[in-house]
Amino acid sequence: MQYRKIEKLGIEVSAFGVGCMRFPMKKLEDGTDVVDEAISTPAIRHAIDSGVNYIDTAYVYSGGRKNEIALGHALRDGYREKVYVATKLPTWPVKTKDDMWRILGESLEDLETDHIDFYLLHALNKGSFEKMRDLGALDFLDEAKAQGKIRYACFSFHDGYEAFEEIINAYDWDMAQIQFNYMDVENQAGLRGVKLAGEKGIPLVIMEGLRGGKLATAPDNVQAVFDEFPVKRSPVEWGFRWLCDFPQIATVLSGVTNLEQTENNLEIFDRCTVGAMTDEEKALMDRVREAYLSRTKVGCTGCRYCMPCPNDVEIPRIFSIWNNRFQFNEPMKGNWDYKRRIDEGHDASKCVECGACESVCPQQLNIIELLKQADAEMRA
Ligand code: SF4
Ligand code: SF4
Repeated sequence: MQYRKIEKLGIEVSAFGVGCMRFPMKKLEDGTDVVDEAISTPAIRHAIDSGVNYIDTAYVYSGGRKNEIALGHALRDGYREKVYVATKLPTWPVKTKDDMWRILGESLEDLETDHIDFYLLHALNKGSFEKMRDLGALDFLDEAKAQGKIRYACFSFHDGYEAFEEIINAYDWDMAQIQFNYMDVENQAGLRGVKLAGEKGIPLVIMEGLRGGKLATAPDNVQAVFDEFPVKRSPVEWGFRWLCDFPQIATVLSGVTNLEQTENNLEIFDRCTVGAMTDEEKALMDRVREAYLSRTKVGCTGCRYCMPCPNDVEIPRIFSIWNNRFQFNEPMKGNWDYKRRIDEGHDASKCVECGACESVCPQQLNIIELLKQADAEMRA
């Protein structure tokens, strides 16, 4: 196992961090869904026995408290002492500072521990950060640290670079968890966010390193680019290798659902080190990115200047679903994502062709016509 030193905290974490979000579930006789611990516990323990020392869960995973409970069971018998546990405070149900203390207390109870190592404000964006800050979350983190209930105060993030910059500069964070992969260099916190965190000495934990698994299977034109390269690796290994090359990244999360997948990840991460990517390999990944982008349906940058639409059409979201559907060759998932827009009344058919969006789009997109095309393709 490769380890990365976190200078700011004086600790080392494994380059492969186990993500618990996708623990397999099973139904009890009364119809209740619970984590299938006969699968999750051996997978977690095997990863720890093989050197993994960073485990990521959250209060809300697996339908609320169930994930933390299952992890708490997996970490019995001395395993808790071998790992850093990360869990997250959901921001959306929090109305008061007392809610923060209650949820932290429940996490400690469910994880069967007296402290959380990495405690994250979950999925911050500009709005949720401002809400939590105004409710006193930053003082709460200081107090929880002082009481020894958490060791490191952190946040996970889903928004654009400007929001990331605002949040990371607003507090002396011990770690930030971001979505990052070779297709997201300009999305979310992006490459600029990685560099900013590095300049500030704040270690990064990476989620969605394979874009929720989308980058695990390459469509034909992308696979052809990989095939031209003399060194053969799976798309999964290329994705993780590209990430591990960044010195700013402390650990890369990969979801563990069973023993076989854990074993596969362990082998891959053994070969992924900082600086391992040669110039030729970096150029390969640039060509792979271009091959994916060549499958773009619409050049929407997601800037949202066109929003809000007076008729509630989710313009950038619809274009993003349409692009993802084709780029990652997932027609059924795209149709399903679009159906949610239909069910919520935000789909392209609500467009009354007022033209307000087209007049402000910096990409000068023919939005009205493109929405019609997207609707025709995705309305299954
Ligand atoms: S043209 Fe359609 S999508 Fe654009 S702002 Fe008007 S109603 Fe909304
Ligand atoms: S203004 Fe244009 S580029 Fe920006 S989100 Fe809207 S459609 Fe996309």
